[in-house]
Amino acid sequence: MVLCPVIRKLVSKRVVLASASPRRQEILSSAGLRFEVVPSRFKETLDKASFSVPYEYAMETAKQKALEVANRMNVKDFRPPDVVIGADTIVTVDGLILEKPTDKQDAYNMLSRLNGKVHSVFTGVTIVHCSSKGNQLETEVFKFYEETKVKFSDLSEELLWEYIHSGEPMDKAGGYGIQALGGMLVEYVHGDFLNVVGFPLNHFCKKLVELYYPPPKDAIHHVKHDSIPSVETFEVLSDEELGSSTQRNSNVKLQGDNAFSSGAPGSLGKKEIHQDTMGEPVVKCSGDMESLTKFPSTLVELLDGFKASKAMFVACKLKVFDLLKGKAHLKAKDVADHISASVCGTERLLDSCTALQLLKKTNQGYSNTGLAEKYLVSDSEYSLHGYIMHANDHVWPLFTHLESAVKEGTNQNHRAFGKNVQDLFQDSYYHSMETKLRFMNAMHSIMKLTARDVATAFDLSRFRSACDLGGCTGTLAQVLIQEYPNLKVTVFDLPDVIENVSGFQPTGQDTSRITFTSGDFFKDNIPEADLYILSRVLHDWPDDKIDALLSKISDLCTPGSGLLLNEMVLDDKNRNRSAWLQSLNMLVQTEGKERSSYEYRCLLEQHGFRNVKIVQTGSLLDTILCTKC
Ligand code: SAM
Repeated sequence: MVLCPVIRKLVSKRVVLASASPRRQEILSSAGLRFEVVPSRFKETLDKASFSVPYEYAMETAKQKALEVANRMNVKDFRPPDVVIGADTIVTVDGLILEKPTDKQDAYNMLSRLNGKVHSVFTGVTIVHCSSKGNQLETEVFKFYEETKVKFSDLSEELLWEYIHSGEPMDKAGGYGIQALGGMLVEYVHGDFLNVVGFPLNHFCKKLVELYYPPPKDAIHHVKHDSIPSVETFEVLSDEELGSSTQRNSNVKLQGDNAFSSGAPGSLGKKEIHQDTMGEPVVKCSGDMESLTKFPSTLVELLDGFKASKAMFVACKLKVFDLLKGKAHLKAKDVADHISASVCGTERLLDSCTALQLLKKTNQGYSNTGLAEKYLVSDSEYSLHGYIMHANDHVWPLFTHLESAVKEGTNQNHRAFGKNVQDLFQDSYYHSMETKLRFMNAMHSIMKLTARDVATAFDLSRFRSACDLGGCTGTLAQVLIQEYPNLKVTVFDLPDVIENVSGFQPTGQDTSRITFTSGDFFKDNIPEADLYILSRVLHDWPDDKIDALLSKISDLCTPGSGLLLNEMVLDDKNRNRSAWLQSLNMLVQTEGKERSSYEYRCLLEQHGFRNVKIVQTGSLLDTILCTKC
């Protein structure tokens, strides 16, 4: 019997379940769905700490499982299936995500955490519609999640071990199976029982209805209200959000060259948009009135964004993550003592950082998440601490004057720091040793993260000598000489910078192919090279300065010489959110601006460069390579 008529819609399609779970297979077969089972080979190794909420982790894992199968089948069969379904179930308790236990002791640890408490079971589900152009896989990704609350009884140690010895916990998220013996551990369930078993069938069927039977446009009635916005107002808002989010999403660089898009076709009825950690919109559809009156989550995230940024900035500035480095667990009072702050204030900061998934909180105290350990501890290899301090101490004060910047169309250094800035570097960043080192640290930390992408976006092996103009601490040069064994790099920067680069050089790496030369690229001679590099330099300056600099470089180049520009490139559809925000950043603090690929192409061609190629690396810098003709 087919309970959900929409399942019939899938009869003529080749449907694949990307899961080996017999429970999921049983649930879907009993609903009348005909499908093949192709277990995904995607390793469930996503960094949990990088997801702001647990269900995003489950949805992302489900998506990756489904996409892996879609890709593999497309390669193997020279055509993809029509639909791939991926799912991932997790259990969360006390801010921790529990998956399948690795052994009996792990099962015991999990079950003890759940004992006597309410926990959440989330299943992230992804429905991937596949098609192919040539052999190129094209996919539309629809994601949702379901949450069910489960309360465990107070269980004795004996009973826990008896259950563990039954062998049942081992292949189940959270270490129990509610549909069998594990059902005896459960006092009550709030929500979809099948979701706890492993697949939210009810929500899945609703989702299919929304996908395959969208309500006709004229089914929407517009009701006028005096003070309370009508339901339709929210719908329209969501539609707009969906449009922009969908655009953003299509910029996300995922597996190989596949173009992924997300979002729903036509009208989907009631929508609630969630952003996943890769900037993808997640459309959670539900028909209940409650969801319609909720504030749109995308807007709530934007509203709170500045609070989250500042909480992270302050915790970095107070060196909270440094204090908790390694496996340290500290109570709020101990942290407060170390950072010379109030206990109540510290506790609130720590709790907020826990909510932001930068810290973990257990009975032993607070500790760093993997994300904080890797990027927020000030001396970790890929620390963003330097960049965050620049954002806190320099960018934040400028951004408080954004309104004036927009009205006046000029930078706001005079308002934020009490002085007019003619030369951004001499007058602003380098006016004291403290600000100079802070800026250099910022550039160093962000370049550490992006240098590899930039250095490998193009094959640069034909060049023998490169000159990185405004190359700062030489971070890109260090990666370039690793990638290209025949390349020598000159890092050219202002004397203020070159005098202070020694503290930024790696230990144990042979840097003899890097030379540091000080000078002013507007006034002094520039070293000769067959590849010139400008990373985050052009965006700092007004057009006349850029023309002067590019003319100078062009005059030095011989035919075949290269110019590599590394900047955030603006796209014409506002997809690249970081680049567009960086464009505001340039408004508040410089006379420069970010540019589109078209603008860069025109600029470079005006100066005698041809064969302009652009790679959007998907990280914080895009790369443009061109050749002097
Ligand atoms: N290229 C580095 C990166 O991407 O991380 C640093 C970029 S930073 C925004 C600009 C760099 O240009 C700074 O290191 C600065 O000192 C350097 N710079 C600014 N004006 C300069 C000038 N007139 N001559 C040489 N270098 C200059």
